[in-house]
Amino acid sequence: MSSPISRDSALGIRRRPVALERLPAGQIAFRFPALEPYRYPEPVRCPYPRCGSRDVLLRQIVPKAVRDPFLRQVMARRYGCLRCGRTFRVYPQGIGPAQTSLRLRHLSLLLYLLGLSYADVPRALRALGLSMSKTAVYLTVRAAGAAVSGPRQRLRAVPAEAGSGDEVAPSRWANRWLAVELGRDMWGDSIVRVDVFQTEDLAALLPWLEQIATAADAQMLVRANRAA
Ligand SMILES: [Zn+2]
Repeated sequence: MSSPISRDSALGIRRRPVALERLPAGQIAFRFPALEPYRYPEPVRCPYPRCGSRDVLLRQIVPKAVRDPFLRQVMARRYGCLRCGRTFRVYPQGIGPAQTSLRLRHLSLLLYLLGLSYADVPRALRALGLSMSKTAVYLTVRAAGAAVSGPRQRLRAVPAEAGSGDEVAPSRWANRWLAVELGRDMWGDSIVRVDVFQTEDLAALLPWLEQIATAADAQMLVRANRAA
């Protein structure tokens, strides 16, 4: 396969490699709340202005493809309004008319706030088999307007082991303080792990990481590896 190396990955390779062999001083895992694909908002009302009737009838259940870290498809409920005669759809919580779930948008926001660029967030998501455009990431970050203040420093892709000819989406990103790794844990619900290299940095970074977790509606689990 003769795919040309993209400018981004060439940049990543030219950077000085970060020493990753050390045991990190602390590990932080970000988890996202479970999305309940069978829970629908109740009560159901006609959403059209100047109607709002509760006299609605479930007409049909239709599959809807979604982009989400854990779900590929949900069922949308199609209702008909008995007062105004119009139809509308109701989606499970966390899912809207857009194809991208709220959880995936939160994940992209989290990665951006940790230090990935707008262009790198889609590359990182690809490692999880997820697709989101750079523009969608940008709009998500803008819409969140998250006032997160802290030592955000650009994260660069850590080149994967040389060997395989195919270009794999990088799943590890690092700067001088921390490394971010994407993957699923054994329960399949933790997808972003952050390694902080130095103990003294951990104390300084934790308040910032907590702000990021809140902004992205994620749960943060901390494990400090203190020297015995
Ligand atoms: Zn109506």
